[in-house]
Amino acid sequence: MTELTQLTLAQTIRGLEKKEFSARETAQAHIAAMEGARHLNAFVTETPDIALKQAHDSDARRAKGGAGPLDGVPLAVKDLFCTKGVKTTACSKILGNFVPAYESTVSANLFRDGAVMVGKTSLDEFAMGSSNTTSAFGNVISPWKRAGNSNADLVPGGSSGGSAAAVSARLCLGATGTDTGGSIRQPAAFCGISGIKPTYGRCSRWGIIAFASSLDQAGVFARTVEDCAIMLKSASGHDPKDSTSAKKDVPDWPKLLSGNVKGLRIGIPKEYRVDGMPEEIVKLWQQGIEWLKAGGAQIVDVSLPHTKYALPTYYIIAPAECSSNLARYDGVRYGLRVEGENLNDMYELSRAQGFGAEVKRRIMIGTYALSSGYYDAYYIKAQKVRRLILNDFLKAWEKCDALLTPTAPSAAFAIGENEDDPIKMYLNDVFTVPSSLAGLPGMSIPAGLDRDGLPLGLQIIGRAWDEQTVFNVSRAIEKAANFTAMPQMARRKAA
Ligand code: GLN
Repeated sequence: MTELTQLTLAQTIRGLEKKEFSARETAQAHIAAMEGARHLNAFVTETPDIALKQAHDSDARRAKGGAGPLDGVPLAVKDLFCTKGVKTTACSKILGNFVPAYESTVSANLFRDGAVMVGKTSLDEFAMGSSNTTSAFGNVISPWKRAGNSNADLVPGGSSGGSAAAVSARLCLGATGTDTGGSIRQPAAFCGISGIKPTYGRCSRWGIIAFASSLDQAGVFARTVEDCAIMLKSASGHDPKDSTSAKKDVPDWPKLLSGNVKGLRIGIPKEYRVDGMPEEIVKLWQQGIEWLKAGGAQIVDVSLPHTKYALPTYYIIAPAECSSNLARYDGVRYGLRVEGENLNDMYELSRAQGFGAEVKRRIMIGTYALSSGYYDAYYIKAQKVRRLILNDFLKAWEKCDALLTPTAPSAAFAIGENEDDPIKMYLNDVFTVPSSLAGLPGMSIPAGLDRDGLPLGLQIIGRAWDEQTVFNVSRAIEKAANFTAMPQMARRKAA
């Protein structure tokens, strides 16, 4: 029998339908893979017992002919999604012992459709980061290594680094992520897998630990575009419990997935040609243009003139919202409490010991930006610039149907690199943040390798609610790129 961890999500569903193997068998194969890959530190909590119970129930449902669209599919859940009765930490010490009494809507939707959870994946603390090095529970190590004799441990990207590493290493068939400024797309690119952040409001934020509420959006990772379409369809949908969740029908993305780009107009934003971008990424972008042209798309140059303000705008808005959202962690209601001499002392000690350095930095920036006297100068100003950034995209849609850009300005870097300078780290998101500020869907597809043999991604950005075009263009790139590379450790397992 084919190694079950090598199948895609879609192939697994077909195999289960044809009774080639059981949900229990694929769960067992993925649990074994997860246990054999602990050196990656991709999981904060492994949940093999839950997985086996869910797989058992799934097999029973299938035997009765009542299987759901994801029935028996082993998935991982980012540890930012509350899971009922299963520790949910946001990779922060302050929530180190938090066990939610409720299930996030996204994970509940996946379970409703039959998914099996193998574990909860690591992330940057409260999803703040681009490298998964700010987790209170240690770095995640990318399953990828540079070719040659460099044995340096690389970052998987962030903040959803555990999910990306787990999918890439074949420890699960798909995983949830959240993307506030790039946290699905950038780790997908670094780990050589696909990842989509849908339109803001497509997935419910209910039960997802908040970072920056006007930006946070759930999405998915998987190894193929089709797999992402299947999984996102289950995750999405209106939820009355989240006032920003949209009352929109969820299209049948996987069914409508075509990869046909004939006649589509693809915009190439000139402002994304940033200084110092490696030649290989520029070349891959050009290659992507050629692939789409060959598929019959029309390539048009577009301008998004406010792009250069996106990062500074994001780094006012995201910290401002985080400082407000994280005010609830006071040692009284959730997680860590450090006793002090009086109430204020207890608040201060709990927060001082509970939060890591990056989270504290952002709370301080955000508190400053929201303070009286600075609110108008920073927060209101940033909101106005955010509107101009959205207007840039709206103008671009007059000329094109989707945008093609690189996902990130570099391949994965070694753990420890970029740590000395937070601004350098923030630059990782230069191509993902603008569409987050505009609330637009964006997807990263693995499209090639750099000279060190590390994956590089291309990003497709679409109109609000037009995930279908994003999927179709992504599928066209996927077909043309024929990206079959996988990390050495996953290859060994295949042998
Ligand atoms: N890297 C960005 C940040 O640090 C984005 C994180 C995210 O999307 N959650 O804020």
